[in-house]
Amino acid sequence: MIKKIGILGGGQLAKMLCDFANNNGYETMILEPSEDACAKHSATRHLAKAYDDKEALKELCDYSDVITYEFENVPSIAIDFIENLKANIPQGKNPLYLSQHRIREKNAVAKYGVKTTDFLEVRNKESLIKATKKIGYPSILKTCTGGYDGKSQWKITNKNDIELINIEYGEYILEKMVSFDKEVSCLVVRSINQEVTCFPLGENIHKNGILSMTIVPARIEQSLEKKIKDIAKHIIISLNIVGPLGIEFFIKGDEIYFNEMAPRPHNSAHYSLDACDYSQFSLHIKSIIGDTLPTPNLLTPVVMLNILGEDKEKIYALKESDDTKIHIYKKTEWKKGRKMGHINYIGSDLEKLINLARSF
Ligand code: AMP
Repeated sequence: MIKKIGILGGGQLAKMLCDFANNNGYETMILEPSEDACAKHSATRHLAKAYDDKEALKELCDYSDVITYEFENVPSIAIDFIENLKANIPQGKNPLYLSQHRIREKNAVAKYGVKTTDFLEVRNKESLIKATKKIGYPSILKTCTGGYDGKSQWKITNKNDIELINIEYGEYILEKMVSFDKEVSCLVVRSINQEVTCFPLGENIHKNGILSMTIVPARIEQSLEKKIKDIAKHIIISLNIVGPLGIEFFIKGDEIYFNEMAPRPHNSAHYSLDACDYSQFSLHIKSIIGDTLPTPNLLTPVVMLNILGEDKEKIYALKESDDTKIHIYKKTEWKKGRKMGHINYIGSDLEKLINLARSF
C-alpha cells in the first residue's frame, strides 16, 4: 500500500500536493535545495540538498513508496539515478525530456497531427534575421529551455526590434505570433492503468507574460471545449505520458494551436481546489498510485486570480469568505512578479466574478 510520497521540487505546486497528501493520510518528503522552499511548511520531511545529490536521492528512494515531480526542469540525471535504484517513479523521464525544450515538445505533438504555431529554430543573431524573414511579423523569440512566466522572450514587430535583441549563441525558437481570440488550457491526467480524464478548460488571461486570471467555464462553444479536450487526451496518450499534464492552447476562429505543455499540476487548474469535486492534486496522486480516475466535475463557476509580490498589502486586507477562497504559498520574500498565492472567486454569475477579480 502506498503511504509515502517523494516529491522532486519544493515550490507552491509541491506545497499544495503535500497539503492534499496530509489531508488524505499520506506522508511526504520533498527534495528541494532551497532552505526557504515554501513546500517545507507542508511536507512531512524536507531534504535541502541538490537534485543530483546521490545520498539525498538514495534517502528519497528509501523513504518513498512512489516518487513524482512538481516542475519540468528536474535534471535527467536525478531520474536516471532513481530508476537505477529501482524506486517507483511511474512518470519517468520521458515527459520531462519532451517538455524541457520548446522545439522538442512542438515536434513531438506535431508528429501526432496536432497543430502548433509556425516556428523555426534560431541559434544566433544571424539565424534570427533569416528566420524572421520566413516567419514574418509579429513574431516572438523564446529560449528553448528554462524560460517561464514570459521570461527570456522577445516580441518582434519590426526590423528595429531585431536590432535591439542581444542574444548569445544558444537554442532559441522563433514563433509566429497568433492573434488569438482566446488562450485556454487543459489539465489532462493519465493513470498508470492508462485511464485518461481531464478537467474543464480554463480560459487564461496573461499580464506581462504571467498568468493573471483563469476563468472557468471558458467562454467558448461546448463543441470547441470538447474538441480541445479530445486533443489533450490524444496528446497524453500518443506521447505515453502518465500523471498530470497541463497543456496550453491558442484559439483563433475554429483553429486550435498547441502552445506548450508541462507534466505537472498547472497554475491554471488551481481553481479545482475550490470549484471541483476533485482537485488536480487529488488526481495527480491517484494517477501515479493507480487509483481509479474520476472525471472531475465543475461544481460552480470560478475565477482564479494569481497574487503576485506587489499585491502584499491588498491580499492582507482581503477577507476570506465562502465565495472568496484565499491561498497563500508562505514564500518568504514578496518580490514583484513572483507568484505568492491565488484567490478563487466562486459564485453563480461568471461576469460578476470576473469583475470582482479585476477590481482586486
Ligand atoms: P509561453 O511561455 O509560451 O506560455 O508564453 C507566455 C505568453 O505569451 C502566452 O501565454 C501568450 O499569452 C503569449 N505568447 C507566447 N507565444 C505566443 C504566440 N506564438 N502567439 C501569441 N502569443 C504568444
